[in-house]
Amino acid sequence: MPAEKREFQAEVRQVLDLMVHSLYSNKEIFLRELISNGSDACDKLRFAALSDDSLYGDRPELYLEIVQDKEARSISIYDSGIGMSHDELVDNLGTIARSGTRSFLASLTGDQQADAHLIGQFGVGFYSAFIVAEQVEVTSRAAGSDEAWRWASDGQGEYTMEPAEGAPRGTTVKLTLKDGEEEFLEPFRVSALVRKYSDHIAFPIKLEKTVVETEGEGDEAEEVTRVETEVVNQASALWTRSKSEIEDEEYQAFYKHISHDFGDPLTWAHNRVEGNQSYTTLLFLPEQAPFDLLLGREERTGLKLYVRRVFIMDAAEQLLPTYLRFVRGVVDSDDLPLNVSRELLQENALVRKIRSSVVKRVLDMIGKLAQDDDRYKDFWSQFGATLKEGPVEDFSNQEKLLKLMRFASTAGDGDAQTTSLEDYIGRMKGGQDKIYFVTADSYQAASNSPHLEVFRKQGIEVLLMYDRVDEWMMGHVREFDGKPFQSVAKGDIDLSNMENESDKQAREQAEESAKPLIDRLGKALEGQVEEVRVSHRLTDSPSCLVLSEQDMAVHMQSLLKQAGHDMPGSKPRLEVNPEHPLVQKAEKESDDERFADWAFMLFDQALLAEGGQLDDPAAFVRRMNGLLLSE
Ligand code: ADP
Repeated sequence: MPAEKREFQAEVRQVLDLMVHSLYSNKEIFLRELISNGSDACDKLRFAALSDDSLYGDRPELYLEIVQDKEARSISIYDSGIGMSHDELVDNLGTIARSGTRSFLASLTGDQQADAHLIGQFGVGFYSAFIVAEQVEVTSRAAGSDEAWRWASDGQGEYTMEPAEGAPRGTTVKLTLKDGEEEFLEPFRVSALVRKYSDHIAFPIKLEKTVVETEGEGDEAEEVTRVETEVVNQASALWTRSKSEIEDEEYQAFYKHISHDFGDPLTWAHNRVEGNQSYTTLLFLPEQAPFDLLLGREERTGLKLYVRRVFIMDAAEQLLPTYLRFVRGVVDSDDLPLNVSRELLQENALVRKIRSSVVKRVLDMIGKLAQDDDRYKDFWSQFGATLKEGPVEDFSNQEKLLKLMRFASTAGDGDAQTTSLEDYIGRMKGGQDKIYFVTADSYQAASNSPHLEVFRKQGIEVLLMYDRVDEWMMGHVREFDGKPFQSVAKGDIDLSNMENESDKQAREQAEESAKPLIDRLGKALEGQVEEVRVSHRLTDSPSCLVLSEQDMAVHMQSLLKQAGHDMPGSKPRLEVNPEHPLVQKAEKESDDERFADWAFMLFDQALLAEGGQLDDPAAFVRRMNGLLLSE
């Protein structure tokens, strides 16, 4: 049968091109990636064979083998794992199934270094073979199948498929090396790389070695060449070894294997629990968030469930809540049945226990990291917004999670999110009993919010929240350490127990004398606002809008409106500052029509300052121009 020619999916070509160019300085990683795939394939076969051991045929051994051929300039990596059928070869090696590939490609900058980092996060995988190979052949026989197929490509956009008779079960990836890549034909170089990157692989990795020895003595002596196979790795699951024997580099290499991340982990925790239930957890926090983390659509992989060292499945969804979807690692249980199914995992009491202990360990690990301000800043910038989903999703850990939160603050350093709630409480003023915050869609909008004016004047700190998830999170938390949260843009702000007597009197007087103005504004804005009041929030701005506690912040309302959602909810309250020259000017206006223009001006301005949207922007401009031109 002639080889059948096919084209790569367009995205594959782009990813391939990018990989070859941007990862060249790290070209040796191809070996790690191919070994990692081979090890996964062995894991998968071992699992499948639990229910059907005929899949092993007469070759139960699971292993990898590297064969170098100097003459043919090739290096092959064989695994006796699950193998791939014809269609799996086409689907897995001719397309990139991962959702978000397009948005990933769109995020590339053209700057090699930055892109190398991105592709690392995207996951390098099989295609890394083309960094060093001019031709790649993948010969595979799926376990239990009597057909074998060979996929071949030079990485230029096309590949061929043809039957491959006689191939053993599993997969051989054969790389014909480019000029200049001869180092990978040297056994000592390759065995050093295996030890460096793949020592932790739980299956034996054999390397064929040619040994030349002298046999016999004296005149009889002759040189004999023998081919020997040597196992080059430790071939024991890393997490089963004792912590004290494992080097940091080994943890790092293991992390790369399970996470498909190119970068190092930020930190990890390795624990063994013995008791009613015994299990081991090895959990990692990555340094960098994957590019699609916040989309929340990322396939939830990266937490692998083993039962007595047998890989069972990727079980991130069963063992981790969504807000911890960035955690990677391994859970190995001694007690779960080997034939545990996904459905069983959902309702199994042992699994629930493991899950809550995984969550606890992760939160402890993050808590430990939080003691180091610099490192925590890095963590927070990558995963803070994701962690903020936690207090809503995981009520039982709310207090613990809130402790880990960091915010920008009026007492802080620009937009840096470095203030913890404990810091805030430690700085609260005498008489202050609430934690004040404002939400907005940018740092600028938050820090310039008119609602902050009185707090600035009185020296009361306010947390500035400008992540999209903040408004939602704050809608679900009531208090921290016994102190209630209070949005400065919602409800009544009562700072009276922090005021002195003369402030209080001045406030009451201002209210009294502004009464006629307030009534007039109320009439002019009937239907637009719930009511008009003298503001005790403002010092520099003429007006602001105040929402009721249950309403969603104005910037979020306008976001949802844009997305086509109906936004019912109560009307806002307009607060005005009678000290402000604009308000005083309005007060002097005797013409009712013109006064109404002033009233709308004060309302529309306040709405804009909150990141809201005007219902009728043209009318706003017309009114403003009219007022600018009067007198
Ligand atoms: P990833 O491993 O990140 O999914 P790869 O591009 O490395 O991405 O591989 C794509 C898919 O091809 C894998 O998910 C796996 O299903 C399949 N695959 C790759 N190598 C092997 C192998 N040696 N044996 C069986 N399947 C493999």
